[in-house]
Amino acid sequence: MRVSCDTELGGSSTSVAARFRQQTLKNSIYCSGTGLHGGARVAMSLHPAVPDTGVVFRRSDIEGKDAIIQGRYDLVSDTRLCTTLSNEAGVSVATVEHLMAALAGCGLDNVIVEINGPELPIMDGSSEPFVFLIDCAGVVAQAAPRRVIRVLKPVSVADGASTASIEPWMGSSINIELDFETAVIGRQSLFVDMLADSFREKLSRARTFGFLHEVEALQAAGLARGGSMENAVVISGDTVLNEGGLRFDDECARHKALDCVGDLYLAGAAIIGHFHGVRPGHAINNKLLRKLLADETAWELVDMDGVADEIDMVEARGELVRA
Ligand SMILES: [Zn+2]
Repeated sequence: MRVSCDTELGGSSTSVAARFRQQTLKNSIYCSGTGLHGGARVAMSLHPAVPDTGVVFRRSDIEGKDAIIQGRYDLVSDTRLCTTLSNEAGVSVATVEHLMAALAGCGLDNVIVEINGPELPIMDGSSEPFVFLIDCAGVVAQAAPRRVIRVLKPVSVADGASTASIEPWMGSSINIELDFETAVIGRQSLFVDMLADSFREKLSRARTFGFLHEVEALQAAGLARGGSMENAVVISGDTVLNEGGLRFDDECARHKALDCVGDLYLAGAAIIGHFHGVRPGHAINNKLLRKLLADETAWELVDMDGVADEIDMVEARGELVRA
């Protein structure tokens, strides 16, 4: 993994006004690393983009317009091991979720992500290296209002033992519940208020995790070739095999919340609502987003400053109240 940070730390724009305006990067920035599943070395650059661009991926190894893949929920083509996006030409980019989470968590609306292969680098399996890159590049507010998706009525989906729902909420929050047999995870429940700037502190450092027998089976099938204890928490029975152990006691729940932040940001805007996931994963996150956005009575696109007063009033009282 290599991260270049030649510029002075740009810092994030955290002023109240910035919450109401779209934001992009101050400078372009570059990193390189390994793709988790293909195991290939990849180079990635993040570039500033004009208002209303959204997050757009550009494959530098592909010619012409087929190189462009929008960071959109309806282009999600595979969710088995990570979240993969594919355009009409069948050109894809995989493992977008941890970068999408960092972009959401740092309040970036408009970014071009240039990548020279079919998979983003896994870095250390968390979003922290991407947050560091964004901090190096700096964040600037743009002259266009930030829009958010406000959930108007509850929507839920189920998939085997997993459920996911989203409901109206005067804020943006995530509740994750996990129930695994291993003592490393057991039962965990995590609540995160995204508007209280919790992403960086609570979620960004949480790494992806896997079970040794699954990793071995994947590698025998030619997948997860870049996977190692450098970029994932590996669990065997009731033991964490990584030398340094876990970064948080509930690192797995925190990583699931990080994945939700990234997957939900493919909606194209931040969501004002409350997400509740029981054993969630990329497949159910995308299923929920598709069901929510397919029902035009379940949400509305509004300017952030139109809802910010209500959210601030709730936050000032130190409580979160259902809308
Ligand atoms: Zn993940």
